[in-house]
Amino acid sequence: MAAPPAASPAEAAGAAGAAGAVVPRPAEPAAGAVVAPPGAGDESGDGSAPAAQARAADATPGSGGRSGSGGPAGRVRDPAAPTSLSPSRAGDFMQCPLLYRFRVIDKLPEKPSEAATRGTLVHAVLERLFDAPATERTAPRAKSLIPGQWDRLREAKPELAELFADSDEQTAGEKLTRWLGEAERLVERWFTLEDPTRLEPAERELFVEAQLDSGLKLRGIIDRVDVAPSGEVRIVDYKTGKAPRPEYAEGALFQMKFYALVVWRLKQVVPRRLQLVYLGSGDVLTYDPVPADLERVERKLHSLWEAIRLATETGDWRPRPTKLCGWCDHRAVCPEFGGTPPPYPLPVRAPGSGGV
Ligand code: SF4
Repeated sequence: MAAPPAASPAEAAGAAGAAGAVVPRPAEPAAGAVVAPPGAGDESGDGSAPAAQARAADATPGSGGRSGSGGPAGRVRDPAAPTSLSPSRAGDFMQCPLLYRFRVIDKLPEKPSEAATRGTLVHAVLERLFDAPATERTAPRAKSLIPGQWDRLREAKPELAELFADSDEQTAGEKLTRWLGEAERLVERWFTLEDPTRLEPAERELFVEAQLDSGLKLRGIIDRVDVAPSGEVRIVDYKTGKAPRPEYAEGALFQMKFYALVVWRLKQVVPRRLQLVYLGSGDVLTYDPVPADLERVERKLHSLWEAIRLATETGDWRPRPTKLCGWCDHRAVCPEFGGTPPPYPLPVRAPGSGGV
């Protein structure tokens, strides 16, 4: 797909119908401002731009996102039944239903991680770089944005400072310097994969939400939307990790097909291309979806939502241990590791009975 030219948000996203919403990136929100996107009330945010907030909330609900713990003030919000599905949360449920419960219903806090916070930082830098005129979108310019974006993140979430805390000031400084250096390398690598001087994204960090005919609400954040002169849409997502092995590519594409389904439902246009840009390994994975792909994803999401609805009503959230448990923040309250989950906070009905 050729580098698409500039397009207005309206051209890129189409008019949002009654059953959906598209919220473009705001001009320049105050650092640390907490602005919830429409319908973003079921997961907590990170306190930056609406889309970034929703992205972070989507990444680790109950924690304030891919970069934090405990929300803007470290507060855990009241438990609530899920009202919508995002790619990350769908992935949680498929990985382990109990993990989904801890994150979405109990909203248990999670510790910030260096990798997730670096991901948030790099995304912010790549997004902001497009504020500059095309000819100035160079690697040095992008790297120069890192300190300022890191300051913004820390202002929004002071608890991130604990990532690099150490009783020895020199050691703490070295940890931070090393971490920022890794972020620089990821940003630099992007320039070997794409040429931002030839791109004019129609949208960046776009919050999208659509309601399917069944009533299921889908939502998420799209890193970048490019629109060609022909009107063809390309959805782009940046990953700061490494590309999966080919046998796992389908799992990686699930998120992109999810977004494609949302865009299709909002605009009645199937995106021409889905593109995953892996900054960790320097790979680009593309897929050109057809309606049958997206219909399959829709059926899968309906099955998933039905399973989530049933578990929500019965309180029957099974742990599903895998090697990914090593990264789970909730082992202390997981029966698989000898823990006891907190009391289920929602009303339950016995399996097989009629109502809640
Ligand atoms: S430790 Fe493993 S089984 Fe337990 S909640 Fe976490 S992911 Fe699920």
